[in-house]
Amino acid sequence: MSHDPNCIFCKIVAGEIPSRKVYEDEELYAFHDIRPQAPVHFMIIPKQHVASLDEATAEHAPLLGRILTLAPQLAREQGATNGFRTVINTGPDGGQEVYHLHVHVMGGPRPWKVG
Ligand code: ADP
Repeated sequence: MSHDPNCIFCKIVAGEIPSRKVYEDEELYAFHDIRPQAPVHFMIIPKQHVASLDEATAEHAPLLGRILTLAPQLAREQGATNGFRTVINTGPDGGQEVYHLHVHVMGGPRPWKVG
């Protein structure tokens, strides 16, 4: 499994940087965002290093599918019982700050700070 020693999210997956875990299996890791933009705000990431959606290929399709089908289950478990937003920021113009593919999941009672 590819791992980038300079990547902050790879370090979170490896337990080298602490995180508030939401979910983990062999392929995926989910954890609370350190700067939540909504009452529920966590991210789902692949454990393997994929820099962004721009780097994803057909071989990543099952992984991406698993992330998206996990989102509603985890959103409900985290208390977002009335819907949620999923966001994938890609590249500089997409506002991506951390170059390890992640899907934001945001929910909980409105109003939120953004959106
Ligand atoms: P943006 O900051 O524009 O949302 P990204 O989509 O790249 O850009 O999101 C990176 C997210 O990672 C941010 O929401 C940020 O709060 C979060 N983050 C950064 N470092 C950590 C960390 N150590 N633990 C949890 N979340 C983090």
